[in-house]
Amino acid sequence: MPNSESLALLDEGPDEAIQNSGRRSRRRSPVWNYFEELPNEGKAICIHCRSKLAYHQGLGISHLRNHITSACKELPPDIDRGSIFRKVVSGVDVRRFVLDPKIVRDFMTKFWITSNISFKKIENGFFKRMMKSAHPSLEVHGRHTLKSDCMSVYQEEKKKIASVFPI
Ligand SMILES: [Zn+2]
Repeated sequence: MPNSESLALLDEGPDEAIQNSGRRSRRRSPVWNYFEELPNEGKAICIHCRSKLAYHQGLGISHLRNHITSACKELPPDIDRGSIFRKVVSGVDVRRFVLDPKIVRDFMTKFWITSNISFKKIENGFFKRMMKSAHPSLEVHGRHTLKSDCMSVYQEEKKKIASVFPI
């Protein structure tokens, strides 16, 4: 079972994970790779163009991000502005990911068909909690719905095979 450290790595991507390896430090946004904080002035300064923008600890940083992703005139051209603040886990942009309960349900059905475990197991309380913890909108159905889902997949696959091998 992965420990919380490896989950954090998945969650945050390499930059933030390294900066966050001392558990005491608060999570630093990658925006601070481009800005220095000037706490006495209530500002942050862009390390590339030296523009000063209003900043107070705890307040939003979206204007700092916007500066880097569009406004900064001195950002080196080899830096891809569009991808700087995107969270990526194995090729998937996590913030743009939209959960599709239909896909989850389809995989769940295929899992049951191929794993040779009883339909009743879908009503296991921990299984339900696991799905809920993955996403609060994931309601797990009961064994009767699972059974009819399995039968629909069976009928679909049967049709596919029939179209390949016409009688
Ligand atoms: Zn700048």
